[in-house]
Amino acid sequence: MADLMPVSEALARILSETSYLGAERVPLARALGRVLEADIFSRLDLPPFDSSSMDGYAVRSIDLTEPGITLRVIGDVVAGRTFDGVLRAGEAVRIMTGAVVPSSADAVIPVEQTDADWGGHPGSIGPTHVTIHRTAKTGDNIRQQGENVVRGQLILGAGTKLRPQDIGMAASLGLTDLSVSRQPTVVIISSGDELIKPGNSLPPGTIYESNGVMLAALIEQWGGVATVLPSAPDTVEGVRGMFEVALALNPDILVSSAGVSVGAADYIRAVLADLGEIGFWKINIRPGKPLAYGRIGHVPFFGLPGNPVSAMVTAEIVLRPAMQHMTGQADDAQTVLAVMGEDIPSDGRQSYLRVMLSREGGSPIAHLTGTQSSGALFSLVMADGLLIVPEGVMFLPKGSQAEVRLLR
Ligand code: AMP
Ligand code: MG
Repeated sequence: MADLMPVSEALARILSETSYLGAERVPLARALGRVLEADIFSRLDLPPFDSSSMDGYAVRSIDLTEPGITLRVIGDVVAGRTFDGVLRAGEAVRIMTGAVVPSSADAVIPVEQTDADWGGHPGSIGPTHVTIHRTAKTGDNIRQQGENVVRGQLILGAGTKLRPQDIGMAASLGLTDLSVSRQPTVVIISSGDELIKPGNSLPPGTIYESNGVMLAALIEQWGGVATVLPSAPDTVEGVRGMFEVALALNPDILVSSAGVSVGAADYIRAVLADLGEIGFWKINIRPGKPLAYGRIGHVPFFGLPGNPVSAMVTAEIVLRPAMQHMTGQADDAQTVLAVMGEDIPSDGRQSYLRVMLSREGGSPIAHLTGTQSSGALFSLVMADGLLIVPEGVMFLPKGSQAEVRLLR
């Protein structure tokens, strides 16, 4: 195992060789899931003015020394309008939620705490007098200008993956579009004489090609734009031709699955060595050895294993951080500390075992999802996460604790 590169070293090298892709502006309606390129500071106070949080009456608290005081209603202010008059002693202004509180008022009394009955139809000004059933103090039912956000405040940091509430926030600051990282374009290639496109019948000895759509889905989940090419036959010319088609699409990243092993029909590495350069291809990872990394010109190349579980796990461990790096994000993989629900043997390679998590009492309990064969994709379908058995560890006894990387 001495010739196997530790996962951490492979990752460090990959990250050192990938760089930020740059930014583009997108309208808010297209910003979900995109990665913010630069910090956003508020250009406004929010709320931008003292506003009423209730339907009721804007008053001078000084007038309401005891319950039962009657005030004269001198005006009406609805949301979107202002009241330009001044409240004098004993006066009130009818006000609706979200309306500007007149500067001469300092509290709002909800209509329910008065004798007014709008009958669900507030109409226009209504009664010219209102009796208030309570006292008031300064600030009651008023949302102070800037109580949510003050002008100049940092609202969203560079590298934020935009969520619905972030987009709403940007709109409430008056922004129409945002500068976000460009999405990496990824071309996915595969090869194998046994691979049949779903929808066709399966001649003896063949299987359906599944890595292409799975890797494309992962890449899209991670914010990339994927193109899947039809899989190539197991010939040097077939594999080479597929590389040429892929490179002509000018991707930011090229990903292949299968054909990086030492089988008689494994041409990927040979073609990679011919067209570009192999960085390394022996990483101390299970499942997933062999996994090739290299470059063709400026295009990073990830030669993932063919076995579907290996393909997905290695994509998760090496491709995802590379894509995040290219889009200016920190690694956002989530892990939980889980208790082993059974004895778990390992072989000293850094292992990512498929586990289901259940909760008994406080901690999550991890159980393997059956066979850990790297071809058994159903083991990933049932998995909540990947149990990380660190390099050099041969055994995790039942009851011991280890990190589980959560799968989405
Ligand atoms: P290879 O690396 O070409 O030896 O492939 C390893 C295993 O993964 C073999 O069992 C292949 O049939 C399988 N495999 C390779 N590519 C794919 C694919 N695109 N979809 C599903 N299985 C694949
Ligand atoms: Mg093959």
